[in-house]
Amino acid sequence: MQMLADIASTDTAEKNAMIEARDVSVFYDNKQALKDVSLDVFENEITSLIGPSGCGKSTFLRCLNRMNDTVAGCRVEGTILLDGEDIYASSVDEVLLRARVGMVFQKPNPFPKSIYDNVAYGPRIHGLAKDKDELDDLVLTSLEKAGLLKEVRDRLNASGTGLSGGQQQRLCIARALAVQPDIILMDEPCSALDPIATAKVEELIEELRQNYTIIIVTHSMQQAARISQKTAFFHLGEIVEVGDTEQLFTSPSDERTQGYITGRFG
Ligand code: ADP
Repeated sequence: MQMLADIASTDTAEKNAMIEARDVSVFYDNKQALKDVSLDVFENEITSLIGPSGCGKSTFLRCLNRMNDTVAGCRVEGTILLDGEDIYASSVDEVLLRARVGMVFQKPNPFPKSIYDNVAYGPRIHGLAKDKDELDDLVLTSLEKAGLLKEVRDRLNASGTGLSGGQQQRLCIARALAVQPDIILMDEPCSALDPIATAKVEELIEELRQNYTIIIVTHSMQQAARISQKTAFFHLGEIVEVGDTEQLFTSPSDERTQGYITGRFG
């Protein structure tokens, strides 16, 4: 009986958030860029951050792997828990945190190195492979997961910067995957890509959701609607509304969200 009761309570229990951000405020010197932002991010979901330019989406994304620590004059207040642990605790090693919470940027930024070395870079730094065979395996698996292996298998020693824009972005995704993250942050990953390359990267992001938790900043509401399960609408440094993507786009509860999604401002 006890077991049945346990199963029933698991079935009805609410999913726990993987990331819990509470009252996060960010200042660049004296200028406040984020005001008391709270957001839950759930495992194996894609969460989109949308809103007008300058409303703090990238700033919030950078809080999640402490990238703002590297910005002079930037101060973060509030709490961010990852699996219940405070990522700003003094015991946290930022390098390990950034391996667990990987990042892909707006402009593809492969290193001026071979395709192989781009992907092997992180595993080498973190000592993730015990020998050359294991490293080869990790590089090939990461390229495969990023949907790039077929296109580059016969030129792993060619420069990563010689690839097309879309391929470079998938190489950057492979580089992030190679350090075996749980979460991938993406800051407008398709904004420098043409529509065909964008479609491929979107398809890849949807596939990656099976094994990773993804948070994506996008200026494209269509993209947010196509790929994400949750959407948060930012405005003037605050989250105005967050919820199921479909619900947010079809029946938003705040008139500012309504105004933005119907193109009245932005
Ligand atoms: P979004 O991603 O929504 O376009 P950002 O997070 O980039 O918004 O910016 C939010 C605010 O913080 C803007 O006013 C921007 O000018 C400011 N900001 C962002 N990065 C910096 C920085 N490194 N130094 C000073 N101000 C910054």
